[in-house]
Amino acid sequence: MNAPASVGRITVIGVGLIGGSLARAVRTAGWADEIVGCGRDPSHLEEARSLSVIDRYETRIPAAVAGADVIVIAVPLGAIQEVLEQVAKGAGAAAIITDVGSAKGSVSTAARATLGAHLPYFVPGHPIAGTEKSGVSASFAELFVGHSVILTPLPETRPDAIATIDAMWACAGARVMTMDVVHHDSVLAATSHLPHALAYSLVDTLARMDDSEEIFRYAAGGFRDFTRIASSDPLMWRDICLANRDALLDSLDRFTDGLAELRRQLEARNGDGLMNLFARAKATRDRMIKRT
Ligand code: NAP
Repeated sequence: MNAPASVGRITVIGVGLIGGSLARAVRTAGWADEIVGCGRDPSHLEEARSLSVIDRYETRIPAAVAGADVIVIAVPLGAIQEVLEQVAKGAGAAAIITDVGSAKGSVSTAARATLGAHLPYFVPGHPIAGTEKSGVSASFAELFVGHSVILTPLPETRPDAIATIDAMWACAGARVMTMDVVHHDSVLAATSHLPHALAYSLVDTLARMDDSEEIFRYAAGGFRDFTRIASSDPLMWRDICLANRDALLDSLDRFTDGLAELRRQLEARNGDGLMNLFARAKATRDRMIKRT
């Protein structure tokens, strides 16, 4: 399927870390003639314009998407359904719509409920790249270079729409792949949503201890590495955990079993058992790091 070398107008709804970084990458690659931003707070959009991330902005979604060839939705998951409803009101009949949400089952359900005749033009997507920072000031054009973007097309999604979104991410330097929605949500629950939930929980557990000030005073590299992602936006992660609740609960149950095993070995002073567990984990992580 032939993909366009560039498009006329792209509208990015949610010009934050992900939307802003994609807009910057699109501009750097010259993939769109015009980049329109949309969000709720004009001061955020003004900042995006002053940084040349977008050319102009609208705060009303139907006005922002009118005349757009490609519409990217990069808002927190909890806002996606209401945004899709507004997109359906203003998008042209052949406008290609995509999103960047971190869980895909809930997005597909929302798209079915709202998009009507636009549904075949909708390509659900998820860039596997990010930082713990938020907002357009944290965005940068190289964020997606060398990272994967997973597309989870619906059975109805048009091949030409997939090809266009594939080309958009390729211009940002990403590797594009497609995946079944349920598989995506289960893999991401294990590799991303569980670690974020654990990082928040660990920091919160320690913070509620009586001598937490003393504990944090001596927190060194290991603690910082493990908990960096607990500095991520709580609202965004609340939405992701709720959107991918079932798969995250499965992962949490597996981890709880793993933790119980660790506790058993420690309680029994089983050095060999601990050694085996740690060595298995180290070998797995070393292999994983070598591959990426
Ligand atoms: P962000 O930096 O906080 O940006 C979110 C943007 O959405 C803001 O510009 C915000 O601007 C706008 N927004 C919020 N609610 C809105 C609404 N109801 N209507 C229109 N605009 C709205 O967040 P982000 O990290 O870019 O995350 C955006 C999406 O990317 C999320 O769905 C997340 O799951 C996904 N994602 C994030 C990462 C990551 O590591 N951060 C990685 C992959 C995917 P206003 O406040 O001005 O409206």
